[in-house]
Amino acid sequence: MRSNDPEHRHPNRQPPHQRGIVEVDVETLLLIDNRCNGCARGERCCCSSYEVCVTTAEMKRIIRVLPEAAKYCPHLLTGQGYDNVFEQEEPGLFSIDTTEDGLCLFAYWANHRTQCSLHTVAMNLGLPLEDVKPKVCLLWPMHFSEGDEVLSMITDAFQFKCNSRNARGTHCLNPGFVEAIERVYGEGCGTQVQQAGENGDRRTLLVIRR
Ligand code: SF4
Ligand code: SF4
Repeated sequence: MRSNDPEHRHPNRQPPHQRGIVEVDVETLLLIDNRCNGCARGERCCCSSYEVCVTTAEMKRIIRVLPEAAKYCPHLLTGQGYDNVFEQEEPGLFSIDTTEDGLCLFAYWANHRTQCSLHTVAMNLGLPLEDVKPKVCLLWPMHFSEGDEVLSMITDAFQFKCNSRNARGTHCLNPGFVEAIERVYGEGCGTQVQQAGENGDRRTLLVIRR
């Protein structure tokens, strides 16, 4: 993801080393809690604050479910078919386009709250979330800083209402983070990070299984 604030634009993308080993800053992740209920209009929202980047493989998987996503996001449809949702940023990496006010084209409103159509479609079709939803979105507010080699907390995390600070000394990782790490990096990875937190380890190295 990259911030839509021109002063703070940065991409949210998986680092190139993602296919091998990932170092996790457990100590920092223990400091944050996240409760997502979708954002109301006017609230700072993760779906309108960054530019979301996906790999070619992720893009292909998203394209397969475009007809389903368009049921929630009719703006994806044009007279000729589907809107050009992706823009190549560099070879193998594509950003997802946004509306004029910066909201991801896959976001929609339900009960006055933002929802992700890709998340909804995965649920509806019984697909694993990681097969449809961008990995950077699954991980947020965890994030790789640009040029950083460590999975940590995104720098502006506490500017969002859904994120709060845990007391120092907490050893229990947010269950949503454990699940997201498991989905993105493979079976056992989330449990490993959880265990590292309980052991008081500051960092842990994940061997990626996905
Ligand atoms: S900013 Fe927080 S509450 Fe809003 S959609 Fe993102 S995770 Fe959910
Ligand atoms: S893909 Fe979904 S979760 Fe990610 S920014 Fe777009 S609407 Fe939000």
